[in-house]
Amino acid sequence: MPDEWKPILSEKGLRPFRADQILQSLYRDYIDDWDQATTLPKDFRETLKSEFPITRAETLDISESADGTRKLLLGLDDGNSVETVLIPATGRFTQCISTQVGCGMGCAFCASGSQGVVRSLRSDEIVAEYMAGRRLGEITNIVVMGMGEPFANYDETMRALRLVNAGRGPNLGARHITISTCGVVPGIERLAGEGIQFELSVSLHAPNDELRSRLMPVNRKWPIDVLMRTCAGYTAATKRIITFEYTVIKGVNDSRACAEELAEVVRRVPMAKVNLIPLSPVSHRPDFETPDERTMLMFLDVLMKNRVQTMLRRSRGKDADAACGQLRLRHLPQK
Ligand code: SAH
Repeated sequence: MPDEWKPILSEKGLRPFRADQILQSLYRDYIDDWDQATTLPKDFRETLKSEFPITRAETLDISESADGTRKLLLGLDDGNSVETVLIPATGRFTQCISTQVGCGMGCAFCASGSQGVVRSLRSDEIVAEYMAGRRLGEITNIVVMGMGEPFANYDETMRALRLVNAGRGPNLGARHITISTCGVVPGIERLAGEGIQFELSVSLHAPNDELRSRLMPVNRKWPIDVLMRTCAGYTAATKRIITFEYTVIKGVNDSRACAEELAEVVRRVPMAKVNLIPLSPVSHRPDFETPDERTMLMFLDVLMKNRVQTMLRRSRGKDADAACGQLRLRHLPQK
C-alpha cells in the first residue's frame, strides 16, 4: 500500500508521489508487467521487475453459463489452479474468490473438499485472482465463497481483502466484501477484533450436532453451542449482522423439524439472517440430491413464522460447472 512503498521509493531516491503512480498502474490500468508502467522512470521499472515481480493468475479456461455467470480457472506459478466466479446481476457484479487450492475442511456435500487441501494462497495470489476478475468488469461485491476455508488462511486472506478495500488501491467498500466460514471459531473471534466492516457469513447447514458433525467435520471441534455463542459475541462486539448459510439437501436436512430447530438455534444470535440455498449436485456424492421447490418454500415458511429473517437463494451458473469447486475437478487427472 502507499505507506509500504514509501521506504522503498526513498531508498531508490524517488519522490513519494511515485507511490500513487505505482498504485494507479497496478489497480486502475491493470498492468501485468512493469514495462507497461510508462509513468515511472525506466531504471526504476527495471528495479521493480527484478525485485517486485507482479504476481499473475493466468486464465486457463473460462466457462460461461446461460445466466451470464462466468467461471475462470486460474493457473498459479507452481502449476496449481484455483477458480473464481463472476456473477452479474442488476446493478451488481459479484466475484466469488478462492483462498486455498482445494480445502481441508471435508464438508460432505462440497466438491472443493473432496480432494483435500493442497495449499493456501498467498495474499498476492488472492489479489491477482481479484485482478483477473476485475479485467472483465467493475467488481461491485466480493464473496469469499470459492474454494478453501478463509479462516484456515486468515492472515493472507485479510491482507488481500484489506488491500482490495484500500482507498488508493481498488477501493472496494468493506461492506461489499463478504467472508464465509464453515465455522472456524478463532477466525470469527479475530474478525470481531479487526475493526473493519467486512460482512460475515457462517455456513451452518444443520441445526443439531449429530447431523452437523456428519455433514461438516469442523463441528466436532467447534460444536453448535460454541459456534452460536461466538457468533453472538461477534454481533455484540461489532453491531453487525451475521448471515447463516443453510444448504438444503433432500431427505437429509430438509424436514419441518429441522426448520423448527434451525429457527431456535439462529435466534440465539441477535441480528441473524438465514440464506437458504438448494444443494448443487456434486459428482462424488450422487446420494445427495437437490430438494424440490415445495420443500424450499416450506422451510422458508417455517423460518419466517418463527420470525427469522430469511432469503431464498438460487444457485447460479450450474451449466458452467460454476457451483462449488467443480471446474477445477474437471481439470484434475481422473483417479
Ligand atoms: N469454506 C467457506 C467458504 C467456501 S464454500 C465456507 O464453508 O463457508 C461457500 C458456500 O458454499 C458454503 O456455505 C458451502 O457450505 C456451500 N457449498 C459447498 N458445496 C455446496 C453444494 N454442493 N451445494 C450448495 N452449497 C454448497
